[in-house]
Amino acid sequence: MAKAKFCSFCNNEITINNLGIEGLNACICFDCLELYHKLVEFETTAQEKQTKIQELKNLSPQIIFNKLDQEVIGQTQAKKILAVALYLHSIRINNPSLNLEKSNILMIGPTGTGKTHLAKTMAKILNLPIAICDATVYTQAGYVGEDVENILLRLIQNADYDIDLAEKGIVFIDEFDKLARKSENPSITRDVSGEGVQNALLKIIEGSVINVPPQGGRKHPYQECLKIDTSNILFICAGAFEGLNHKEEYSVGFNSHVITNNDDYLDKIRKYGIIPELLGRLPVIAKLEDLSQEELKTILTKPSNAIIKQYQKIFQVCDIELAFLDDALDDFARRAIKEKVGARSLRKIVEERLLDTLFELPLNDGTKILEVSQNQISKIKEKIIN
Ligand code: ADP
Repeated sequence: MAKAKFCSFCNNEITINNLGIEGLNACICFDCLELYHKLVEFETTAQEKQTKIQELKNLSPQIIFNKLDQEVIGQTQAKKILAVALYLHSIRINNPSLNLEKSNILMIGPTGTGKTHLAKTMAKILNLPIAICDATVYTQAGYVGEDVENILLRLIQNADYDIDLAEKGIVFIDEFDKLARKSENPSITRDVSGEGVQNALLKIIEGSVINVPPQGGRKHPYQECLKIDTSNILFICAGAFEGLNHKEEYSVGFNSHVITNNDDYLDKIRKYGIIPELLGRLPVIAKLEDLSQEELKTILTKPSNAIIKQYQKIFQVCDIELAFLDDALDDFARRAIKEKVGARSLRKIVEERLLDTLFELPLNDGTKILEVSQNQISKIKEKIIN
């Protein structure tokens, strides 16, 4: 008869059904193994939480500003405003007992000046999930188009279905200005894609518990909904607000209290067609400026994922150093200014310039360095060592 085995931890008898791991002189039953696994998991999460809290303690508006500054070129005033807003957001989400009201953000600036890029960088700094959505795809519930609740679904998905985490995340709504109601007076016919969406957004932005269909609303009307509290989600609504005179001074206001010289500007945005209730929920205004030629040039090379760095990596794979002379960078930036879509055209401009050379890759002709100037791309076969 086989000798009975006992768990080296709990001393219970081990049968064929509860054997966890058996070693040379010891064995562990399945229950102990599971308990141990849970303990390790608990320890790791506690440690991760502690590290996060520590990281947040090390943050300050100035540190956030410096982090933004490495990735986002220019836009100094907006970065300052957002650094403070993000710092306050971190205090709010880490001290729920303080019951601090949140300050959502209205970001105003021309296309391609870094609005989305700023929001993404902000989420990265706090290590939070972010949902980036385009306001123009939504309609009032019951009409053809997406329901605004899908914005929250995207956030939940980006938080890997961790609702707790999603409730602290960031929602970036682009093309917000396109929701402007069509006339200054409340409309007689229903404005389901403009004012209707603004009203639907109001509900989620002001902070309440929202039912979110896990598969996106309408196709599965009877599915069980996910519940998410939006009170601590930071909403950033962004748009170009073309035609609006942006010249006036602007400043930051907290919790719908806005410093007086902002009032005229807010009045203009309201007249543009954003309903006052919603505007009141976006007390922080960050305004972005058109990018200068010099700034566009810096965007090509400085941020961690700068376009030039990306192409250099591609050529590095083929053992070729890609070097850009200053006149080439100036030329790219000048062209981008002409295209009038901010930094958005830079990739296309650089790609066009490199197309013929990219087509020749991997360039098995002994080229060691490719030197790109405004007028030519020279192949250098010998590295000159000084
Ligand atoms: P928008 O203001 O229209 O949201 P984006 O943030 O989407 O513009 O910018 C498009 C791309 O251009 C970004 O992916 C980013 O790489 C680059 N970019 C735009 N503005 C800046 C900036 N100020 N600093 C660094 N990169 C920028």
